Amino acid sequence: MRILISNDDGIYSPGLACLAKAASEFGAVRVVAPDVERSSTGHAITSSRPLSYRPTTVHEFEAYRVNGTPADCVALGAHLWERVDVVLSGVNLGLNLGHAIWHSGTLAAAKQAALLGLRGIAISAPAGVEPDHGSYGRWIRRVLEVLLPASQLSLVNVNLPRSPKGLVWTRASVTQYDGRIAPAQDPMGRPIYWFTVSPLDEAEKGTDRWAVEQGWVSLTPLRLDLTDELRLDERRKVQPLDEAVAAAVSPPVSSPEAKATVREDEAESPAVAPGHD
Ligand code: MN
Repeated sequence: MRILISNDDGIYSPGLACLAKAASEFGAVRVVAPDVERSSTGHAITSSRPLSYRPTTVHEFEAYRVNGTPADCVALGAHLWERVDVVLSGVNLGLNLGHAIWHSGTLAAAKQAALLGLRGIAISAPAGVEPDHGSYGRWIRRVLEVLLPASQLSLVNVNLPRSPKGLVWTRASVTQYDGRIAPAQDPMGRPIYWFTVSPLDEAEKGTDRWAVEQGWVSLTPLRLDLTDELRLDERRKVQPLDEAVAAAVSPPVSSPEAKATVREDEAESPAVAPGHD
């Protein structure tokens, strides 16, 4: 098994070294990670300047530090090292629970793997805990024993509590948000603002936040398709738009004719305004 390791804390994070070491018991490991910390950069990609890498090592593992985001690192890593089976991201020095799914670079690296048709697993631990091979290695190995053979899981968000007592499956706690703006002043008396994380009330049972609060390692299977199926069905019934017309005039997108038509249209009429054939 070929295991690509990345993170958003940067290539010299102790969490990354801990994960690489644990993963090496399951397959061949290669590290491709940001050259500096890129926490909370979400799923950003670098499109306005070139990417490059410098070879280095993390423990004894072949490693590359990249001048890009976590998502860039996974794309570049999958390009440079063919036939990657799974991307592991972390161990992040800070939990990624609930709404952190939207901000987290750790999770973005795993999401990028899923977007590329690979599998991605993000692993995070509480801030202030330095994940070393001894204390957390045992739990990370158990997480990998559970998740690596489960090939139908393309994207999983894993969070470890301070002192784990076991593993549980959870759903994301998306009804609670801990992001707040805290106003302050700079030394010149001008207003400045910090985006902060505040403590939340007790989390709902069965969620990732609840599990970690109770001392369980939380495993949340995620999917990329954010379509709200319930609301979509409801809107199609109560507020139909032009679906009937669209179905009548559009050939099935999957047919070779449809693909050829799209290419032809794009090639022949790039300057034609919409609605003018
Ligand atoms: Mn981070």
